[in-house]
Amino acid sequence: MASIGIDLGGTKVEGVVLEEGLVPRHRVRVATERERGYAHILDRVGEVAEALRPYASEARLIAVGTPGSLSARDGTLKNSNTTCLNGRPLKADLEARLGLPVRLENDANCFALAEARHGSGRGHAVVFGVILGTGVGGGIVIEGRLWSGPQHIAGEWGHHAVDPGGPACYCGQRGCVETMLSGPALEAAYRAASGSRLPAAEVAGRATAGEAAAAAVLDRYLDRFGRALANVITILDPDVVVLGGGLSNLGALYTSGREAVARYLFNDALSTPIVPNQLGDSAGVLGAALLAA
Ligand SMILES: [Zn+2]
Repeated sequence: MASIGIDLGGTKVEGVVLEEGLVPRHRVRVATERERGYAHILDRVGEVAEALRPYASEARLIAVGTPGSLSARDGTLKNSNTTCLNGRPLKADLEARLGLPVRLENDANCFALAEARHGSGRGHAVVFGVILGTGVGGGIVIEGRLWSGPQHIAGEWGHHAVDPGGPACYCGQRGCVETMLSGPALEAAYRAASGSRLPAAEVAGRATAGEAAAAAVLDRYLDRFGRALANVITILDPDVVVLGGGLSNLGALYTSGREAVARYLFNDALSTPIVPNQLGDSAGVLGAALLAA
């Protein structure tokens, strides 16, 4: 039976109809245009769902992955970095718009589930999936099942507030891991150090090429990555950590970054594999479709 998964991101809404065995039957992608507000975002998700439905007429549920999660208190969305969604009854409004029950799930949880079942986490009992992108998120999968917790915040290491003197975060705290390890954070650090604007991937390239400012920014980034991830590993002690999001392409995360994790870990050695994802950009939407199956 085919299932429908939709990934509602800050820049794009992506949908897939998935057959068993992780075979995509149909895919759709549109721009979110989140600056146009809540009603427009609902319409965009609606357009994607309508384009997918003819390819999965048997589907009785649509799963939607998005940053943030549903409040166990009142069912509205909370903690999304697309802040116009926060406090809104997104699940109920999507169900009214799509005419089907909706399962709403955190996007990093969807990523972690897809990688645990079909990607780099396969064969591992406890998988911590990490998103390092526009935001920083995480998801926990145990024996192939998502562990989201009674408050739906399990794995949200991006909002460990580790520095009260650090940058303000949209969540209301200061010095969250996300304000240090996201792509925009790395770009801002480079801009402050050098005066010029560069995409995060190019900062790493310049560091490798020997540019002092870029190297210093990248070293500090990797050190913070180590400190933050060591905190997670000390709590969860997962069998594997799978990295996703645009910054997971930084090769240094798996060498110097890994050494930094070992430096801060409460242990005499670091044996946890820290590996790149296998499913690429599609892991989130695939994970949503797995939840709908
Ligand atoms: Zn925060």
